[in-house]
Amino acid sequence: MSIKIYNSMSKKKEDFKTLEEGKVSMYVCGPTVYDFLHVGNFRGAIFFNAVRNWLEKNGYEVNYVYNYTDVDDKIINRANELGITPKELSEKYIAEFEKDYSGLRLRPHTSNPKVSEHIDNIIKMISSLIEKDKAYATPSGDVYFSVENFADYGKLSNKNIDELQEGVRIEVNKEKKHNSDFALWKGAKEGEVSWASPWGEGRPGWHIECSVMAKEVLGESIDIHGGGLDLVFPHHENEIAQSEACSGKQYVKYWMHNNMLEFGNQKMSKSLGNVKTGRSFIEEYNGEVLKFLNLSSHYRSVIDFSDIQIGRSIASLGKFYSSLKHAESLIAKDLALVPVPAEFQKLVEECTKSFEDSMNNDFNTADALSFFFELMRQFNNLTRKPGKVKPEYKAIAEVYLSWIKDKGSIIALFQEDPSEYLNLLDDMLLRQKNLKREDIDQLVKERTQVRADKNYARSDEIRDELAEKGILVSDTPEGTTWEVEK
Ligand SMILES: [Zn+2]
Repeated sequence: MSIKIYNSMSKKKEDFKTLEEGKVSMYVCGPTVYDFLHVGNFRGAIFFNAVRNWLEKNGYEVNYVYNYTDVDDKIINRANELGITPKELSEKYIAEFEKDYSGLRLRPHTSNPKVSEHIDNIIKMISSLIEKDKAYATPSGDVYFSVENFADYGKLSNKNIDELQEGVRIEVNKEKKHNSDFALWKGAKEGEVSWASPWGEGRPGWHIECSVMAKEVLGESIDIHGGGLDLVFPHHENEIAQSEACSGKQYVKYWMHNNMLEFGNQKMSKSLGNVKTGRSFIEEYNGEVLKFLNLSSHYRSVIDFSDIQIGRSIASLGKFYSSLKHAESLIAKDLALVPVPAEFQKLVEECTKSFEDSMNNDFNTADALSFFFELMRQFNNLTRKPGKVKPEYKAIAEVYLSWIKDKGSIIALFQEDPSEYLNLLDDMLLRQKNLKREDIDQLVKERTQVRADKNYARSDEIRDELAEKGILVSDTPEGTTWEVEK
């Protein structure tokens, strides 16, 4: 089965065929770096990492470009407020983002072009658009793209320029020929960073930046262009207009857009005061929770970051890592080498096929994850039985562990050390419950002592006290252990 991609342009799933055999050029709009990124910005980063990994797994050589917008009004304003240069500000937040990105075990992009490195190329493209009569300069030193001179304007977002003209009631700029004409170059205002151009001092508009970086790094036509759904209009519509008006070629073969996220069915917005940064989410929970939550929904659906959904992700991760820890302990046992039972081997093959089908079906990571669950359930059923550990458990554990790690690496999940990760989850849950590890250890120690003293009444009392706090105690041949209920 070949890979199918839902193309936002045709609004259909299409068979994936690259422009050049065996190679994929992929451009994803990166962030404007003036602050820590909000948690929603990580959705694209997490999802497109899986897209790239899956394409590579299928033998493609992927050139994955993710830009940093380091020239922008927001950056200039924020830098002015802080009394630092825009470059200092953007470099700081690029470094902060890259720290989170690598902490999430997302693979480095092939390249991260920055707008500030492409100003000359931007000026060149704008000049070419003016020559082709697709853009015009104004007396005040701005340059606008002329939407009326590009017949296909609106083809991605299904907008009609006449409707766009009527929709705008207030004439904001008398120099524009059409209300939807958008700035390619903005004349410098007092105190702003600027670059010399044929139209005077100024700086590029946002949309032209991506068209230029995509062209410079990947060429005039690219296979995949991704980004958040909020970028379809005007950003991507404008990118198409600029690039196609300039080259006369199709700019992008497959447009892919990831949906947004909500908090308890509310959109994230400054006015609602529910904007959360990726950094604060990772600190409060951890990176695995963020990835699991993102990937357990289809990328074209809205994700709800409600406490219930977060809790479910934590519980699922607890189950997975506990099964991986159990698998590791079975593998470490000195048991006879026996073949994997045919029934489990068959299930592994079925899950592999289903995982591949899900990923081929427009990168349906939510479906793909359901086969991790299926395999985990069966692994637990077969190897967590009362009585003596059988050699076949070890054989099952080896196959299970390598399957989860291998398929997990494609979606950047389940790569942590199981024991360390379970401790991390417990620490996180203890923090939420306002409990301290030392206090629990102390109670468990006391329980061991009173049990040795045959004071069973006190031992039961302690167990109940712990259970009330959500702490599960297990007495094993190796001693007493505890974990937080997930
Ligand atoms: Zn962009």
